[in-house]
Amino acid sequence: MRISKSKFVAGVQCLKRLYFQVHHPELATGSSEATEAVMEQGHQVGLAAQKAFPGGVLVAVDHKHLDDAVRITRELVGNAEVPAIFEATFEYGGVLVRTDVLERRSRTGYRLIEVKSATGLKPHYAYDIGIQKYVLSGAGVNLEGTCLMYLNRDYVFDGQEYDASRLFVIAEVPLEQTIGDTEISRRVENQLRVLGQPAPPDVEPGRQCTEPVLCEFYDHCNPDLAADHVSFLPRMRTEKVDDLIASGIMSVHQIPDEFPLSETQRRAVDAVKSGKMWISPELAGELSTLRYPICFMDFETIFPALPRFAGMRPYDHVPFQWSVHRQERAGELIKRYDFLAENTSDPRLPFLESLCQAIKAAGSIVVYNQGFEASRLDDLARWLPGHRSEIAKIKAKLWDLLAVIRRSVYHPDFGGSFSLKRVAGAILSDMSYDGLGVAEGIQAGIAWTRLVDPATSPEEKDKLKRALLQYCGQDTHALARIIDVLTKQTSAGAV
Ligand code: SF4
Repeated sequence: MRISKSKFVAGVQCLKRLYFQVHHPELATGSSEATEAVMEQGHQVGLAAQKAFPGGVLVAVDHKHLDDAVRITRELVGNAEVPAIFEATFEYGGVLVRTDVLERRSRTGYRLIEVKSATGLKPHYAYDIGIQKYVLSGAGVNLEGTCLMYLNRDYVFDGQEYDASRLFVIAEVPLEQTIGDTEISRRVENQLRVLGQPAPPDVEPGRQCTEPVLCEFYDHCNPDLAADHVSFLPRMRTEKVDDLIASGIMSVHQIPDEFPLSETQRRAVDAVKSGKMWISPELAGELSTLRYPICFMDFETIFPALPRFAGMRPYDHVPFQWSVHRQERAGELIKRYDFLAENTSDPRLPFLESLCQAIKAAGSIVVYNQGFEASRLDDLARWLPGHRSEIAKIKAKLWDLLAVIRRSVYHPDFGGSFSLKRVAGAILSDMSYDGLGVAEGIQAGIAWTRLVDPATSPEEKDKLKRALLQYCGQDTHALARIIDVLTKQTSAGAV
């Protein structure tokens, strides 16, 4: 048996994860679409990185013919005319690695470069680098340096062609930050031993299930907890949960009055124990600051690693959709407006111009998580400086329902979460996101990418368009209805 670089890294996170990946991949859960989108993005970043090494040669062999890849790599390493090798493949000690870039630095010396879609260094990359160094050295490659190549968040795309020398940062990894061969060898030996066993290793769920990445077997190892479990209090630190569980306290109902909790957590405990929604005496005052016409607004965006349009940096958000529900006066019918970009052209100006029309003369603009919409408006002001004053006026009218809910409302069914989906589900008993074609932000981004893909059939585009409009519209409709319920409960009214 041999393991790959990614399997080795998974095994460093958790030996059981490695075992499941090899022997029981069917136990994995999560969206395969989201995983594929992340992989495709990594692939595109890798291709862009290769442009920084002109004359480099790709070992163009798929994963089913890795022995051929090893042979071709050996030939390329022996050819002094080749300045860089992409996907160079080596095997040593039961481990097979494919190196993003192997750059020739001298006749016999190479520099190993690991390409990341991230915008900075992360501690767990040390194992990515460590395992490759171990295998390459074992396979007889003379390494003169090891580097990480990651995206430069300050790079601004000119809208024409990526300048790979500025799009990426190449940072030397100091020797003291790499994992030594002794530790790598010990871990490889242990991983191969575990994989040879008839049953998975006995590993209890813990912090490793979410760090450094969310494990795809999370749902399998962490069965559903009761709705009143102590971990479902807002912002509960793991140590606090562990303290309670160690004292035999699993249910919120058992938490003693003297147990130290934040004000929000204490309110949540009281709401769960009483079974009633808690409302702060200040809520009526907060709601009375709303001014008609009230617009309920939500944006959808994607934030690609590689900037799409002129003026954008890696991971800048492309705003592709908005929804607005608008109420002119108390008791009047609420009207719906929306915008959805339907092709690959730059959506920023039409997004903003149509939005300005829909929210014209608004008194208050209700959003959920003001920081997000405000940041997107700041982005638009940077890209479209001619619209700065209109954008500043919109920003001045933003009214954040999330902040109000956090301060002044807790429903026993929030389960520790203040997400709009959870809050709407708890406060509006007849509203659910179940069964929607698109039910969360990540899915919306994936659906939009398919919608604007010229290869997507007209029937599929139609379906995606309907799903996106329904999802974003449901969010703004939920905002309007939550405000309505809270207003009735407090008898406060907007003016
Ligand atoms: S969920 Fe946790 S315990 Fe289970 S395999 Fe993943 S990391 Fe290991």
